[in-house]
Amino acid sequence: MKIDASLLKSIAKGSRLKEDRRGFSGVSTDTRQRMENGLFVPLKGERFDGHRFIEQAIEAGATGALWKEQEPVPEQLPETFQLYYVEDTLKALQALAQAYREKVNPFVIGITGSNGKTTTKDIVASVLAGTAAVHKTKGNLNNHIGVPLTLLAMPEDCTYAVVEMGMNHAGEISTLTQIAKPNAAIITSIGDAHIEHLGSREGIAAAKMEIADGLIKESWLLFDGDEPLLSPYNEQAETTVGFSDQAATKISDVKTLENGYVFYLNGARWQLTMLGKHNVKNAAYAILLAQKLGFSNAMIQKQLSSLAITGMRLEKLKGPNGSTIINDAYNANPTSMKAAIETVKELPHYKRRVLVLGDIYELGQDEEALHKSVATAIEPPITDVVTVGKKGRWIYEAQLDKKDSRISLVHADTVVEAAEILKPYYTKDTVVLIKASRGLALEEVLPAVKGGN
Ligand code: ATP
Ligand code: MG
Repeated sequence: MKIDASLLKSIAKGSRLKEDRRGFSGVSTDTRQRMENGLFVPLKGERFDGHRFIEQAIEAGATGALWKEQEPVPEQLPETFQLYYVEDTLKALQALAQAYREKVNPFVIGITGSNGKTTTKDIVASVLAGTAAVHKTKGNLNNHIGVPLTLLAMPEDCTYAVVEMGMNHAGEISTLTQIAKPNAAIITSIGDAHIEHLGSREGIAAAKMEIADGLIKESWLLFDGDEPLLSPYNEQAETTVGFSDQAATKISDVKTLENGYVFYLNGARWQLTMLGKHNVKNAAYAILLAQKLGFSNAMIQKQLSSLAITGMRLEKLKGPNGSTIINDAYNANPTSMKAAIETVKELPHYKRRVLVLGDIYELGQDEEALHKSVATAIEPPITDVVTVGKKGRWIYEAQLDKKDSRISLVHADTVVEAAEILKPYYTKDTVVLIKASRGLALEEVLPAVKGGN
């Protein structure tokens, strides 16, 4: 059994059934999902208290639960239903994840950064999957609940666990890394995300560096060598990687292809079939990690050639009338928006290059200036810009101020309006980038994208 009684004993203050050596097949916080012989963990959210959902958990297959001591024990529990009493169910979930991580004892790779966590996580996992069982964060489950659930979902024979760690506030990565205890860690980039909570970009860098708090002995850290804000931490890094001379391990001779890049790193030539130059760096992290773990270059390249990447990140799709759509509507911040624009500029061939740019959320007081900064990246060969939404309008205003007659510019207040504006844009030689924060659901401008073709 994955979650055995001794693990639970180590984190609980007591239990409802005393002589019980059972284990559980897994852990779930969500009663809407089946959890056959699972352990239900009731969490308290802003609107709901999981303790009120114990009946649904039982219906969903749970045979036990963690239980806050002060909560009254529900009447009419099945006789064999186990409860483990704890002070705080969230902390207990985290402690259980930590204990399970120690029990399974895989090689854990922790990944944080402002941009590129999910992509790097997916690339690293795909590369490592060449030789062994790899478990990785599902989608974007990267917070104080997602990280423990990710660890608890590991199969017992897992060799590598690739864990994405996200944050909004200082101190959060420290908590996550002390649960996951990485054997290796990657900081992909420092951007402007969550600057409203962290004060400055130095503050963001320090918060990402918290990942080192949980690194176990002889583990190693790899980070963005192009980021001056990380250079004060260079001594802590095994190596740093980037395109600039500041990087200890340099990516060089990057050549853009229709569907990706070729580049040199550590004396070898690599090919990546993914758009976005930042993905060359994300792949470089994976290559260096795999080399360190003893993978041959041939094996790494083979795995790179068959990547499994979570959707909507610079995803290339076929649009109407033979046009090309690059769907990057999964999320955005100013850095990633500019990076996506650079990608569109670098693509070979296209005559018309259209940017559809929408609202970016969670930018704090400087949100207007940060939106306006995106316009600095809007240059030929970009031909058309369609901005969308209230905040997207700031990008429109900044571009308008540039009085650049080479690039057409339109603003749409709503996604529906933008979809209408875009209809005549789809022609054979056109590439359309869509990019905004998740909340805007900007992908809905593109009927063709819905079908995922
Ligand atoms: P989230 O905080 O939403 O979990 P994330 O860090 O997981 O984001 P991804 O989802 O991998 O990031 O990528 C989001 C966007 O960031 C991409 O679409 C791309 O435009 C940009 N990006 C990816 N990698 C990098 C990088 N190394 N440096 C800068 N920007 C990047
Ligand atoms: Mg992510």
